[in-house]
Amino acid sequence: MCNCKNVEIGSFDNQLQIDHPSLLHPVWVDACIADEIIDLLHKGVKTIGSCCGHNKAVPTIGVALESVKLMEELGYKHHPNPCVIRGPYSRTYFYAKSVKCSLKAKIKIWLPYLWRKFWDI
Ligand SMILES: [Zn+2]
Repeated sequence: MCNCKNVEIGSFDNQLQIDHPSLLHPVWVDACIADEIIDLLHKGVKTIGSCCGHNKAVPTIGVALESVKLMEELGYKHHPNPCVIRGPYSRTYFYAKSVKCSLKAKIKIWLPYLWRKFWDI
């Protein structure tokens, strides 16, 4: 679970700005997941977006296609990309390690995924 309280999905509340030598400019990230993102940047991962889930969704980290292999080597598990179901870009989202999601959020995400996977719609 993250530390968010009453933070809506898509809002910019509870974020902080981070700067890193690998970034072209400072970026805003959810405060709950910022330490993990900074650690990944130190390890050479190119992150493209992340969300702590705000206790309403699965905490995820999106990476550039060239960083997928490194994320796998670091032990990260793939999260199904709800926007891109098939192809290489469907494997660019990962479960965050530092923030765990609630069972309610897992069920909300996994049931539609399993439905699509087993009935291929
Ligand atoms: Zn949070």
